[in-house]
Amino acid sequence: MTITEKLIARRNRTLGSHSPLFYNEPLQFVSAKGVWFTDVHGDRYLDGYNNVPHVGHCNERVLRALADQASTLNVHTRYLNDRVIDYAEQLLATFDDHLNRVFFTNSGSEANELALRIARQHTRSKGVIVSDFSYHGNTSSLAELTTALDTQESLADHARAFHVPDMDLETRDEAAVLATALTEFDALITSLVDSGHGVSACLFDSLFSSEGMPRLPEGLISGVIDRIHAAGGLVIADEVQSGFGRTGTHMWGYQRVGMVADLVTLGKPMGNGHPMAAVVTSEALLEEFGSANMFFNTFAGNPVSAAVGEAVLREMADRDLMEQARVIGASASTAFNEFAARYDFIRSAKGVGTFLGLDFGVDGAPAPALAKRVVESMKARKVLISRVGPHDNVLKVRPPLTFSSKELPILLDALQASLDEI
Ligand SMILES: *Cc1c(COP(=O)(O)O)cnc(C)c1O
Repeated sequence: MTITEKLIARRNRTLGSHSPLFYNEPLQFVSAKGVWFTDVHGDRYLDGYNNVPHVGHCNERVLRALADQASTLNVHTRYLNDRVIDYAEQLLATFDDHLNRVFFTNSGSEANELALRIARQHTRSKGVIVSDFSYHGNTSSLAELTTALDTQESLADHARAFHVPDMDLETRDEAAVLATALTEFDALITSLVDSGHGVSACLFDSLFSSEGMPRLPEGLISGVIDRIHAAGGLVIADEVQSGFGRTGTHMWGYQRVGMVADLVTLGKPMGNGHPMAAVVTSEALLEEFGSANMFFNTFAGNPVSAAVGEAVLREMADRDLMEQARVIGASASTAFNEFAARYDFIRSAKGVGTFLGLDFGVDGAPAPALAKRVVESMKARKVLISRVGPHDNVLKVRPPLTFSSKELPILLDALQASLDEI
């Protein structure tokens, strides 16, 4: 047995065999720095996939902030602490004026769960609309909204899923696609109202990343938001993927698409690997919820998390990482569009900023096997990417935000070689 086989056997005997691993032959890393991993054999891999180590793996400033605060004080939020308030002020300063209050949580799931509770209490309704291939977390109420992963929970009676069209796959013109999508959306609202659930919220990721980054018809998002608000519901922007400058032009994904959000949920990149997340909302919604509920969260909003969160924001600002994401994203996107034009099995280049993809299809059908081949072939060339979408046929390239012009050619060369192989 190789060392990998031995560890997999032990993992199966402890974590079980259903805990997923990437790749035909899983990787075992022993260290990482910046955008590079080192595995157990001493081989280096370029990270073109992970968004949690947002300001780079094992970032010095984040590590120092964490260690300094952890060796000084760590305690829950029932004692006053200026560090936590400093961080809350800095974080809120990145949002639109009306989004001026924050609840800290430990995970994106907790944040979405809390946002739904706030929306339900405000609207006195339970109905939720999500997109038709989405993931917002692992709690029981979020499992009932999950359409992108296998869960035994079926879509809840009070939930409806709307289909997100992709102009790259449509033959009809934009106005016709938009009209159909909005008519469908109206029907979902009517169905929630008629069934007595009413409309509490629409919850979605403005990049529609699990949907495979569809190119939306102009006016879809504003149309959806107008309809939810007209029905008395709230809009929850899930920023777990699109937030913290990922799109290269806006700190928050909802700002890029010109959305009015009532609640915004944050997660993955927020703590660079330290588990922290949040719900950002308005004073009115926080007051309404807070006056009726004692919300306490043992670990969330502790001074160590605040120190880490602050270090992430500082690092982003000092290194101008959002601008770097815009520049790198633009170069990568140009190259991806060239690939899409050159190879007939690529239907389109997807994504924005440093969340990019290539949609693989043959004879009008999605081609997940080709996408899988490319992901494995990239791994053999020591570059890590993955794939997404309802058919798993869209390459997913979403590196740490510190991914720079030094690394981009390495990724593009490996990708070109992997595509040539097909
Ligand atoms: C990962 C994810 C979540 C859930 O976050 P956890 O921290 O894993 O609970 C929610 N929404 C989106 C879009 C995600 O990608």
